[in-house]
Amino acid sequence: MTAPHFTFTVYGTPAGQGNLKGTRHGKLRHANGAELAEWRGKVRQAAVLATGQHERQPFGSQECVLCDRPAKVHAALLGPVRLEAVVTVARPKSVSAAWPITRSSSDWDHFARAIGDALTGVAYADDSQVCDGRAITTYPRIHSDALDQPGAVIKIWPIAIEGTS
Ligand SMILES: [Zn+2]
Repeated sequence: MTAPHFTFTVYGTPAGQGNLKGTRHGKLRHANGAELAEWRGKVRQAAVLATGQHERQPFGSQECVLCDRPAKVHAALLGPVRLEAVVTVARPKSVSAAWPITRSSSDWDHFARAIGDALTGVAYADDSQVCDGRAITTYPRIHSDALDQPGAVIKIWPIAIEGTS
């Protein structure tokens, strides 16, 4: 495996994306909306620093007011990418298991979705570019890429086109 094109670390409490709840008005919203927005903001800021890209302004499908690039090319990588996130969650005091297998933390796929969305418009232009994605959940200091506190280590590779690398 070649070295990742981008590797960066995010500190903060990881939030999963995907648990929806109905409001009184019959709309669906993320059950953990505030935590999710804070975590996605941290991931995006770390990606901005790692890639040298800025966030698209305004967020949406129109051209960026800062650089005039349309949304479909507003990113560091414009082709297929491989994404790996090692997500470190806090170990509750009552838990002795080595790995986070209790219901107290989110599922790997919900973490993957939150991080995948947060990187859109910075690392890649659209999350459909992530053809090969992986999220690993761990307690501190268990996985080789685990942090000593909650957060995530994110690695991104462009996928080489067969026969051209
Ligand atoms: Zn821009």
